[in-house]
Amino acid sequence: MPVVRIDVFSIFPALVDAFCSESLLGRARTTALLDLRVHDLRAHATDAHRTIDDAPFGGGAGMVMRPEPIFASVRAAQPPRPLLLLSPGGKRFDQQMAKTLAAFGGFSLLCGRYEGVDHRVVAELCDGEVSIGDFVLGGGEVAACAIVEAVTRLIPGVMGNDESAASESFEGGLLEAPHYTRPAEFEGLGVPEVLRSGDHARIERWRHAQALHRTRSARPDLIAQRGGLNDTEKRLVEEFPPVPYPESSL
Ligand code: SAH
Repeated sequence: MPVVRIDVFSIFPALVDAFCSESLLGRARTTALLDLRVHDLRAHATDAHRTIDDAPFGGGAGMVMRPEPIFASVRAAQPPRPLLLLSPGGKRFDQQMAKTLAAFGGFSLLCGRYEGVDHRVVAELCDGEVSIGDFVLGGGEVAACAIVEAVTRLIPGVMGNDESAASESFEGGLLEAPHYTRPAEFEGLGVPEVLRSGDHARIERWRHAQALHRTRSARPDLIAQRGGLNDTEKRLVEEFPPVPYPESSL
C-alpha cells in the first residue's frame, strides 16, 4: 500500500516523470512508498490539433490554458485533494508546507504554462495555489518536481537513514552545520579537529554552535523567529568559533 499518492497534471508529463524516476524518487516509486501519477493534459484536448491554449479575453500578450482539457483531465483522474495550482502568486512553499503535505497521504499539483490557466480553473477546480519563490518560471513542472522531492524525502522509510531528516536545515529553526568527509587534508585544507576527536558530546556541541553561527549570519530572520539564543547557546557560540563561508556579493 503506497504511503503517499501525488498526481501531477502537465502538458510536459515526460519532464516530470523523468526527474521523478531517478535516485531517491525513483526508489520511492519502485518500493511503492510513493504513488506518483503524471497526467498529460493534452490527452484531454478534444480538437484535432489537441489545442490546450488560446488568446486571452480582453486582449494582451501571451496565451492562456483553456479550461476544458484541465477539467476533463482532473475529472478522469479523480486525484487526491488538495489540488494545488503552481503559481508565482501562490502561498510560498517551505519545509513546513512540505511536512503538512507529506502527512496528508495524498495531494495533487497542476502545472501552468504560457501566461497561466483560465481563472475558472483556479476558482472552481483547484483548492489552493503554491509558489516556490518570488520569480517567474516558464512552467510549473520544475516547481512540481521541487515539491514532490521535498515531500517524498519526508515520507517515513524513503531516506536510508531516517535520522537525517531530523537534523536538517530548518529543523528547530536553524540551518544545518557544515559537513566534512575524507581526506582529512585536501590541498592543505584540514578538517576541524573536534570532528576527528571521537568525543561525541563535544561534536554535538560544535555542530549546534556552527548551526547557530551559520543561521545568525545567513538567516537572522530565523533566529528572530525562534526568539534569539538561550543562555546555553550564547555560551556555545563563545566556545566554538565559526568556520568560514564565502562572502556572496549577490
Ligand atoms: N503570467 C504569470 C506567470 C506565468 S508563468 C504571472 O505573471 O504570474 C507560467 C507558469 O509557470 C505558471 O502558470 C505556473 O504554473 C508556473 N510558475 C512560474 N513561476 C512559478 C513559481 N515561482 N512557483 C510556482 N509555479 C510557477
